[in-house]
Amino acid sequence: MGGTHEVGRNAVLLESGGTKILLDYGVKIGDKPEFPGHVRSKDLNGIVLSHAHLDHSGGIPLFYLSGATPYFATPLTTEIVGILIRDMIKLSGYYLPFEYIEFDAMMKNRVDVGYRKEVKVGNVEFSLLNAGHIQGSAMVDLKAGGKRVLYTGDINTSRTRLTQEAKVPRKNYDAVVVESTYANTDHEERKKIEASFVAAIKEVLNNDGKVLVPAFAVGRSQEMLCVINAHKLNVNVFIDGMARAVNQISMEHLDYIKTPKTFKTVINKTRAVQGWRDRRQATRRADVIVAPSGMLQGGTAMHYMERLSLDEKNAVFLVSFQVPGTGGAKLLESGYFRIKDVEQEVKAQVRHFDFSSHSGKTQLEAFLRGIKGKPDVYVVHGEPENCESLAQWARDELDVNAAAPKEGDEFKV
Ligand SMILES: [Zn+2]
Ligand SMILES: [Zn+2]
Repeated sequence: MGGTHEVGRNAVLLESGGTKILLDYGVKIGDKPEFPGHVRSKDLNGIVLSHAHLDHSGGIPLFYLSGATPYFATPLTTEIVGILIRDMIKLSGYYLPFEYIEFDAMMKNRVDVGYRKEVKVGNVEFSLLNAGHIQGSAMVDLKAGGKRVLYTGDINTSRTRLTQEAKVPRKNYDAVVVESTYANTDHEERKKIEASFVAAIKEVLNNDGKVLVPAFAVGRSQEMLCVINAHKLNVNVFIDGMARAVNQISMEHLDYIKTPKTFKTVINKTRAVQGWRDRRQATRRADVIVAPSGMLQGGTAMHYMERLSLDEKNAVFLVSFQVPGTGGAKLLESGYFRIKDVEQEVKAQVRHFDFSSHSGKTQLEAFLRGIKGKPDVYVVHGEPENCESLAQWARDELDVNAAAPKEGDEFKV
């Protein structure tokens, strides 16, 4: 339904014996929001959400203009979705086809599903499996009409400090719908990225500087706090923006966190910035400030850019993928950043660290290779060349049917 040959507005519709289940229904945020293809709410028997990110969740309120389709996700996913969708409605300068009232209706139809719990909706049975991508993220394992289908959502099979890594499910599958965000790129080894990130922070602090870490509010912010803690950097860490609420919610769902005890300690010792007075002081008292947005497009990170980026002693360490055209991408390219409506030369050290919550090329291939039953492979959630090349790889190397579908394509398993 969407998210084919692109990243954003992900959606897959599965039908079996008259039962229709929608897997994700995201939004692509640009000048104006784009949604997947149209499905009528009354035709759906259920909506299953893989994880909280808006490219998977942001269109779901559309089904609650009228109608009351049950909506399934892990409880942590739904709590985080609450933060992200409310924020999207609040900030949307453009027309959104729904409002808070639709979001509230969606929440009234929520059904919390933990990992590995069997759920039956009409002719379809499914369960959610850890996807390793962000806290609460899931793959969807579906059984229908005697067939088994795996929908990966976004997956990460490498170890991070926040969530357990995704494992290849041991069942035999007839079809797999797989993401391909990094189907043509391998990430540097996690350990090495962490080591250089930590060494770089130490160097800045030794020279009396401060480090701003712009990070995505969900996942990356929490992970960066865990990384700093794991390397025993004895520093004052402040956290700001939407990441604060995500921290609190994650604390209430520790069963989705890899090391709950350590996570609790980390969050408790991180100073959450409370309001503007506190924010102004933070620039004096903090050693490291973690603040969204991860691509320097708004968020409290903008305040810290203004305060910290014009001093050469300080550093701005970007730890997320930077979409071309965003503040972060431009800063990396040009060394300039727009502060108070003026392009200014950033004196602080600017670096990018390739932390990722998606599997890289080798890992995606190993994941597909590990799935038993010679399933058909459908590749989505990637740039066109990534979708095509992973499908080609699956045909060549695994000798299976594989396709990189276009929006609206239908396949029979
Ligand atoms: Zn995601
Ligand atoms: Zn995604």
